[in-house]
Amino acid sequence: MTVSRILAIKGRDVITTQPHRTLAEVAQLLSEKGIGALVVTDVSGEVLGIVSERDVVRAVARQGAVALDDTVARHMTVRVVTARETSTINGLMQQMTAGRFRHVPVTENGRLVGLISIGDVVKHRLEEYENEQKALKDYIATA
Ligand code: AMP
Repeated sequence: MTVSRILAIKGRDVITTQPHRTLAEVAQLLSEKGIGALVVTDVSGEVLGIVSERDVVRAVARQGAVALDDTVARHMTVRVVTARETSTINGLMQQMTAGRFRHVPVTENGRLVGLISIGDVVKHRLEEYENEQKALKDYIATA
């Protein structure tokens, strides 16, 4: 299965933030939207980085509550691992496991076209598993 299949089901909207925003604003948006990471873009929509709840927690643990006034630019990860629509879910799972991150932005020709989270991957693996089980049961029942 490829990334495009998941995006077709979950949609292509990605919640973004900008480098000059504060970590407090990030925390607010993550909580409001019930998500774990924001893609950091510039005015033209180019991906500059990613900032996740882990970055906020790490900053607060190190610096205390004052870290919430820091800019996103200071705490985001700039080397973002991205996927293409044609990337496989298995490949994505390997990248997430090896890199120990749970979010992968999807880009096409430098444009952000979606985001896949570990939750999306698990959901679709479970569906695949259930379909396999059903196919096996149907096969046994009719054999
Ligand atoms: P997460 O597991 O997504 O909350 O992220 C854990 C750490 O990895 C944080 O420092 C994120 O900024 C970073 N991170 C998240 N997604 C990616 C990604 N696709 N590429 C590189 N780093 C990432």
